[in-house]
Amino acid sequence: MIIVMNPGAKKEQVDEVILRLTQIGFGIHLSEGETRTVIGAIGDRSKAYSLGLEAMEGVEKVVPISKPFKLVSREFKQENTIIELNGVKIGAEKIVVMAGPCAVESEGQVKLIAESIKAAGADVLRGGAYKPRTSPYAFQGMEEEGLKLLAEAREKTGLCIVTEVVNPQCVPLVGKYADILQVGARNMQNFDLLRELGKIRKPVLLKRGLSATIEEWLMAAEYLMSGGNYNVILCERGIRTFETYTRNTLDLSAIPIVKGLSHLPVIVDPSHGTGQRRLVSSMCKAAIAAGADGLMVEVHPDPERALCDGPQSLNPIQFKELMVELGRVAASVDRTM
Ligand code: PEP
Ligand code: MN
Repeated sequence: MIIVMNPGAKKEQVDEVILRLTQIGFGIHLSEGETRTVIGAIGDRSKAYSLGLEAMEGVEKVVPISKPFKLVSREFKQENTIIELNGVKIGAEKIVVMAGPCAVESEGQVKLIAESIKAAGADVLRGGAYKPRTSPYAFQGMEEEGLKLLAEAREKTGLCIVTEVVNPQCVPLVGKYADILQVGARNMQNFDLLRELGKIRKPVLLKRGLSATIEEWLMAAEYLMSGGNYNVILCERGIRTFETYTRNTLDLSAIPIVKGLSHLPVIVDPSHGTGQRRLVSSMCKAAIAAGADGLMVEVHPDPERALCDGPQSLNPIQFKELMVELGRVAASVDRTM
C-alpha cells in the first residue's frame, strides 16, 4: 500500500508513520516528490489496519496497490521516473539512443563506432563484453578487456556505457566500468542476479525475457526495486512467437501498456526484435510513435564481418541516416532527439 502524506507534512510526521509500519515488519520505500512525500509500504496489509494510519497527523490517504508489482506501478508513483546520468536523462522529453556493436571485438572497432555514433547524436554506447550465446562454440566476448575498451571510449567521447552482466559474481566488476548494467533477455528471471543488482545504485537496463509476459517482466523489475535500486530502465526486445519471418516478434503494444502500468522508462531494441537490418528503421520510428523513451540499435563498422549479430546491425552511414529520419518522427510526437 502507499501512504500519501499531505503537501507540507513535517518530517517528524513522516518518520512516525514509518516507525509504526517498520515495528510491524513492513518494508519502506520513500518517494519524496516535489510537492509531497509518498511512503510505499510492503508487507501484510491485514496487520496494518490496527495502526489507524489514516488518522495520523500529516497523512492524507492510504491507498492499497492492487497489482502484484508494487514499487514499479503507477499507483505507487504517478510521475514518470527520469534516470539521470552524466547529463543524459532517460525517460524525459529527449529520446535517448543507445547504439554500438553486439559484441566488443577490438580497440579499433569500439573507437570507430563510438566516434561515429556520437557524431550522429547517440547518447549511450552499447557493446557486450560477456556474450550469453545460444551455442557454446560461438564467440563468448572479450570480458574485462572489453570493459576496458568501453571505458576508454567513454573517456574519449563522453558517451555513457551500457553493457551486459551475466551473473551475480560479475556485478562488482561490470559495475566498475559501466554506467548502465544490462540484464539480457535470457537472464530476466535470474533472480540471484536481480537481487545482486538491487543492492547497487547504478541504473539497470532490464530486457524483456524471450517468452515473458508483461507481468513477469514487471515482476522482475520489482525484484530490482524491492532491493532498493529504483534506477530501472525496461527494454522491449521482441518475444518468441510462431512467426519465422523475423527473429522475434517485436511487441510494440507493450510500450503503451507498460507506460500505463508503470512509471519506469521504456526503451525498444528493434535490432534483436527483428533480427534484420532492413526492418530496424521502420520499427524505430514505430517505437517512438508508440511512446518509447529510447532505442537500442546495433551498429558495426563492417556488419558482414561482425562476430555476432551482423545481419541485424547497421553500418555507421545507415545509422547516421536513421538518426536524421528519427528526428522528424520524434518532433511529430513532441519529443526531441
Ligand atoms: C544484447 O543486447 O546484446 C543481447 C544479447 O540482447 P538480448 O538479451 O535481448 O538477446
Ligand atoms: Mn546482439
